[in-house]
Amino acid sequence: MTELLPNIVAGRRVLGTGTGTVLRDPVTAAELVRVSREGLDLDSAFAQARDVAGPALRAVSYGQRAALLGEIAKILQANRDAYFEIATANSGTVQADSAIDIDGAIYTLSQYAKWGAALGDARALLDGPRASLAKDGVFASQHVLQPTRGVALFINAFNFPAWGLWEKAAPALLAGVPVIVKPATATAWLTQRMVADVVDARLLPEGALSVICGSSAGLLDRLQPFDVLSFTGSAETAALIRTHEAIARRSVRVNIEADSLNSALLLPGEAAGSETFELLVREVAREMTAKSGQKCTAIRRVLVPEQLYNATAQAIGARLSGITVGNPRNAAVKMGSLVSREQFDHVLAGLEALGAQTERLFDGTRAPLIDADPAVAACLGPVLLGTRDADAAARVHDTEVFGPVSTLVPYRDLDHALALIRRGEGSLVASLYGSDDAALATAALALADTHGRVHAISPAVAKTHTGHGNVMPQSLHGGPGRAGGGEELGGLRALNFYHRRAAVQAAAGVLDRLAAAPWA
Ligand code: NAP
Repeated sequence: MTELLPNIVAGRRVLGTGTGTVLRDPVTAAELVRVSREGLDLDSAFAQARDVAGPALRAVSYGQRAALLGEIAKILQANRDAYFEIATANSGTVQADSAIDIDGAIYTLSQYAKWGAALGDARALLDGPRASLAKDGVFASQHVLQPTRGVALFINAFNFPAWGLWEKAAPALLAGVPVIVKPATATAWLTQRMVADVVDARLLPEGALSVICGSSAGLLDRLQPFDVLSFTGSAETAALIRTHEAIARRSVRVNIEADSLNSALLLPGEAAGSETFELLVREVAREMTAKSGQKCTAIRRVLVPEQLYNATAQAIGARLSGITVGNPRNAAVKMGSLVSREQFDHVLAGLEALGAQTERLFDGTRAPLIDADPAVAACLGPVLLGTRDADAAARVHDTEVFGPVSTLVPYRDLDHALALIRRGEGSLVASLYGSDDAALATAALALADTHGRVHAISPAVAKTHTGHGNVMPQSLHGGPGRAGGGEELGGLRALNFYHRRAAVQAAAGVLDRLAAAPWA
């Protein structure tokens, strides 16, 4: 039998009982490792984190915790090769796609180490300026932010086993809040290995970072009023979490990052073949194929003026025709596999669901795979769908096919385009392509209330922009409505979630002694 990966709780490796769940190579179906959390003492795991590791983390300053993040980034950097091997085997991703996850994680940690260092010796944060409460100006109110006295429980999605951990853990640990992560079972190996490497280095108090692999049963039941829960995954699981007892009755703070029908919009007036047109085409093809389209931020709907429908379909199709699909170990392969045969079936079902309301403008599903058996591998070529009646094609605006699939959507004018985009009912990101700065700014503001991020691209940033789907720690990640209503990252704004805000009303002399750092 393959190796059973230990859970890591209270600073120790703990094997689950039973045979566990097998993690597989999605290209060859080979068994890789097993995970089990059966028999784990969850009460002790939460108690160690909450009562021992948390106070130890908060006994030092933001600056000292930021230095720990820097050390963690170094450990991850030193073990980077092993992480790429695990990603190739367990996620089926090519090197460049594994890098989005692994290097994205290390970059995010490094950024929080840098921003945290600027908070220096403080042990609390000031929130905004003081407000006078009395005519003499002596009695005043000052809002402060104190790290919450609980545990941060992360329940993560399968598509970002590395970044999904660290984009949450960096602000949590910087805030002084211990972390327990439950990665998605299918790709838990990489998360488990990263936690093991960091725990082995004995940088953190015991129990400050734990990983529990396997079922989520019983985890939410352990949550107490000052704990927080950060969930990333499907809208269906998110709905179950929202109605859980801990959230409903104990007011556990919850952040939800769910699915999203993200859009790319070519603004009116841009010609086929223009630089902006090419920028859109390149970005759509990249977003469809990066990580085989398994990015929550990937472009699902491509909106273009109706007279450019055919030209755009041709241009995107031409780019997609150069995408080779198969075993990521073969250097000729540009796109690896989906995460599992189960996801492969989900994508086929999604294509079927959209089929009645769309046409296939480019179909890569029949192209031969490189070094992979089509009967076994979870490899699927990209598919560009299109609809000629954007208003009637309701499924295009509400069905997320979590794979290399996008739909081309023609619009009449800008108002029509914006109305179609809003039918996504809240998304993580929209990208705009135009050559007129004022038009881009107007459209960006028009979409800012229904999106967590608007990525506005003009020729001036053609070479420097960071990409529609890449989540930069400087910018907010999350979105309203269907996207889950969550907020992550956005620089030090991310610390908000792990802090409690209180108003201290006192004499100016008392407020002068709060010894908190100004909000950066
Ligand atoms: P999922 O099936 O909802 O699973 C997400 C996590 O929830 C996994 O760890 C899963 O554990 C766990 N889970 C399943 N049932 C649960 C329950 N009843 N209670 C508590 N936890 C439970 O989602 P997925 O298939 O892994 O991820 C794909 C989806 O995530 C896509 O829709 C994508 O758009 C979304 N996503 C969103 C973001 C974002 O930032 N907005 C980022 C990435 C992905 P098991 O694996 O053990 O079942």
